[in-house]
Amino acid sequence: MGFGDLFEFEALWSKVLAHHFSLGCKTQETPWKQRIASVLRWCLSVSEMAQFGGNPFFSCRNCQNPLALRDDLISKKFVTKSGAGYMFSHAMNIIVGQKEDRKLITGVFSIADIFCSNCGEVLGWKYVRAYDISQKYKEGKVIIERAKIAKEY
Ligand SMILES: [Zn+2]
Repeated sequence: MGFGDLFEFEALWSKVLAHHFSLGCKTQETPWKQRIASVLRWCLSVSEMAQFGGNPFFSCRNCQNPLALRDDLISKKFVTKSGAGYMFSHAMNIIVGQKEDRKLITGVFSIADIFCSNCGEVLGWKYVRAYDISQKYKEGKVIIERAKIAKEY
């Protein structure tokens, strides 16, 4: 199923809804309506998957929210309070918290906690600024605790 099919389905869905409302069924949930809604949700999830082009990605272990692509994984050698941490060049569907200066093993950084945009779980942190020149490469990168994510294909 491609995006074209999805748009067609949405157009059809809005027609179905218009017909539904014209019959005066504004508040009543009917089984067929629920069935169409579940098909539509399935179509949307398929189209979201298509964005990843079949590439593996990591999702929130708590709620399956897609968070980062395998292609954006830079290093697995980070240590977090829950154990191993992965560094990604980019993450999606995250909320970046208030930044603050923190002294880590490799120097002083301005970092911000990151949270899952769907369930609010604390996932790790983002390096906003590195004060040491040798650590500048970390700026903008995110660390996600291995224990908080699941790999998907
Ligand atoms: Zn989540």
